[in-house]
Amino acid sequence: MEIESLSIDAVRQAVASGETKATVLAELHYDRIAREDGKINSYLALSRDRAMARATQIDEMAVRGETLPALAGVPVGIKDVLAMRGAPATAGSLILKGYRPPYDATVVTKLETAGAVLLGKLNCDEFAMGSSNENSAYGPVLNPKALDRVPGGSSGGSAAAVAADFAVATLGTDTGGSIRQPAAFCGVVGVLPTYGRVSRYGLIAFASSLDRVGPFTKNVKDAATVLQVIAGKDVMDATSSDRPVDDYVGALSKPVEGLRVGVPEEYFGEGLDPEIRAAIDGALAGLKTAGCVVKPVSLPHTKYAIPTYYVLATAEASSNLSRFDGVRFGLRAEEAKTLSEMFRKTRDVGFGAEVKRRILLGTYALSAGYYDAYYRKAQQVRTLLTRDFLAAFSEVDVLVAPVTPTPAFKLGEKTDDPVKMYLEDIYSVAASLAGICGVSVPCGETRDGLPIGVQVMGRHFDEGTMLRVAQAVETSQREQ
Ligand code: GLN
Repeated sequence: MEIESLSIDAVRQAVASGETKATVLAELHYDRIAREDGKINSYLALSRDRAMARATQIDEMAVRGETLPALAGVPVGIKDVLAMRGAPATAGSLILKGYRPPYDATVVTKLETAGAVLLGKLNCDEFAMGSSNENSAYGPVLNPKALDRVPGGSSGGSAAAVAADFAVATLGTDTGGSIRQPAAFCGVVGVLPTYGRVSRYGLIAFASSLDRVGPFTKNVKDAATVLQVIAGKDVMDATSSDRPVDDYVGALSKPVEGLRVGVPEEYFGEGLDPEIRAAIDGALAGLKTAGCVVKPVSLPHTKYAIPTYYVLATAEASSNLSRFDGVRFGLRAEEAKTLSEMFRKTRDVGFGAEVKRRILLGTYALSAGYYDAYYRKAQQVRTLLTRDFLAAFSEVDVLVAPVTPTPAFKLGEKTDDPVKMYLEDIYSVAASLAGICGVSVPCGETRDGLPIGVQVMGRHFDEGTMLRVAQAVETSQREQ
C-alpha cells in the first residue's frame, strides 16, 4: 500500500476490509522514517514496541470482524512536550535529557483508545519556544518541501512528519502559533482548538493560560476526526471545559452557503508577502463562489498583540520553568559543591539561549516594581484583544486571514535577531490571547513552490463552523 497522502479514512477502510494490516502500515512508516528522516530530523525517539503491540490488537479486532474505532491502525506521532509513559520526553531541551514520564498525557490515552498506533516523539523548539524549530537542543528540523528552509515552530517536527508521510497525523501544541505556523510552512492542516477544549494533562507547560494541544493532518476531515477524539472534559485538567463536544465530522457535511466571513483589515497591512495576499484573496473568492458572504471587519487592538503575548508568555514561562532544578527531572550538573550551585549549574548547561532569555524577561515583568507596568497592563490589553474578536463575531461567523507574513524562511535567516523571529507570530498570537479557535489550511504555493496557508478563526467552542469553512477552502483549492 502506498503511504503517500494516506488519509485516516483510507487507513480505516483498508484495515477493516483486510486490504492491509495495521502492523504492515506501521512498518511501512518506520521504514520510511529510517530511510528519509535522517535528513529531516523530525523524530527524536521511536516507540516501536508500543506501536506494534497496539497495531497487533487492531489487526486482531479486524480479523474478528469487530467494529473498529475512529483511528484504528492510524500511525500517529506525538510532539515531545507530551508525556508518553516510559518514552523519553525532552521538550527539545537538554535539561530533560533522560527523563521518562511514568504516565500518559490524556490526549495520548485518548488517541490510543481510539485505535491510533503511536510511532514516537517529535522534535520541537525547546519548551515550545520558537518559530523555526532552530531552538531544539537536538538539532533543527528541515522543511520536507524545501530542505534549505525551516519547517516553522515550535511544532516543526509534527508538521514535517505529516508533510513527509512519516505519520498520517500528529499532535502539536500552540501557545502563540506553534501549530498554525508550521502547518502553513509545510503545507498541511493544523488546528488550534479553543482554550479548554482539549486536556493539557501530561503537557510540559510553557505558558499555561495559552498552551493548547491540537492535530496536524493531511486534510480537514482528518483534523475533525482527530479533534473529535481528543476533545472533552478531563478531570485531570481543571481548565478543560465540560461543554459537550460538537460533532465536528458531521458539521463538515453542512453547506457553507450563507455563512458570514470577516476579513480583518489589520491582518493585511505592511509586511505581508504579496504572493500570500494573492493566495488569501483567491481563497476568499472561492468562499464567495460557495455562497459565503465576505465582508471587512476591524480588530483595532491587533498591533498590541505581539508585545502583550511576549510579556504574558515569558512571565508564565519563568514561573513554569522554575521546576527544572536538577532535583526532580532529567539532567543534573555534576561537580557542584552546594545545593544552590547545583541549581545554577544545571540550569546554565541545561537551558538554551532562547529559554534563558525568556526566563529573564518574564522574571523582570513579574518583579515587584514592574508588575503593574508590564504584567497587569498586558492582562488588560489581553481583554481588549478578546473584546475585538467578540465584537467581530457578533457580525460574522468566522474570520479569514493569513497565518504568517512570509512563506518558510531559510535556516539561520532570523536566528541572530529575536525580535525578527517574534514578529513571525504577528497573525497568530491574537487568537491565542483571546482563547478562540483557529486552523491553518493549505492554500496554494509561491512561485518558488513554497506552501502557503490561510487561517480560519472561529468563535470560542465553534470548531464545527471553523472546520466547515476550512473544508470549503480546501475544496475550492482542489477545483482550481
Ligand atoms: N513562536 C511563538 C513563541 O516563540 C509561539 C510558540 C508556541 O506557540 N509554542 O513563543
